[in-house]
Amino acid sequence: MGPLIKVFGRTGTRNLRIHIDASVADAYNEQGWRLPHPRSDTEVALHSFLTTFPTPSLDRGPDIFSWSTEGQSHPVFSSSRTWEVLRPRAPTQATAKHIWFSGATPKHAFHLWVTNLNRLPTRCRLASWGLQIQTDCCICSTQQETRDHLMLSCPYAGVLWTEINRRIRDPVPPFSNWSHLIQWASSSTSLTPSVLRMMVVQALTYTIWQQRNNMLHNQTLLPPLVAFKGINRHIIDSIYTARKRRKFSSLMALWLI
Ligand SMILES: [Zn+2]
Repeated sequence: MGPLIKVFGRTGTRNLRIHIDASVADAYNEQGWRLPHPRSDTEVALHSFLTTFPTPSLDRGPDIFSWSTEGQSHPVFSSSRTWEVLRPRAPTQATAKHIWFSGATPKHAFHLWVTNLNRLPTRCRLASWGLQIQTDCCICSTQQETRDHLMLSCPYAGVLWTEINRRIRDPVPPFSNWSHLIQWASSSTSLTPSVLRMMVVQALTYTIWQQRNNMLHNQTLLPPLVAFKGINRHIIDSIYTARKRRKFSSLMALWLI
């Protein structure tokens, strides 16, 4: 029935004549449960519930306690089981398995996850929260700084995408919006598997945001071709590190021309 104070409320201690600090032993003696005659349906339910298990007896050994989650008792406390019960849940997103692929660079995958949710603090988002700031792109200063501009249509991103297009066997389509990009990165062909596409998109978005911050805070910017060398190096290193995984075994040949 759960804690009796929740079942019977604050008046329960008076109605049942059980002190708030009472132990089970205090509510029982050799004649049986020390309860008044039931005067409500809930009290009747308690009385009948008490008949469903043996009465307390010292002969059966000392009391024990256990941690219970979702109807299952465990002898020790488990923080993971407790977190599973307590944590807020949302429906699993279809892109999750593509973004969090096995062998991904964790900081890149996390960054793409945040970017995909459109949670990057771009100037347009900051302005939408009421900050009195310029909203033009930190890198090119010609258009509004939104996620889609930074990652898809900014000239800086354009150079990176051109270089990526040179390396990927299937032509990369011009992306009209963010969901188009994610749709492309989540799909596979034998020449450009999804893992390679996602690895490229993760390294690219991470690098662009890093350079955007570099420009904002330090007024310096790596030339895009130098930034691409970093992306290229990272992809080669990632494929090499994960080369024993089934999905990575053929990627080096597909990436290196
Ligand atoms: Zn721009």
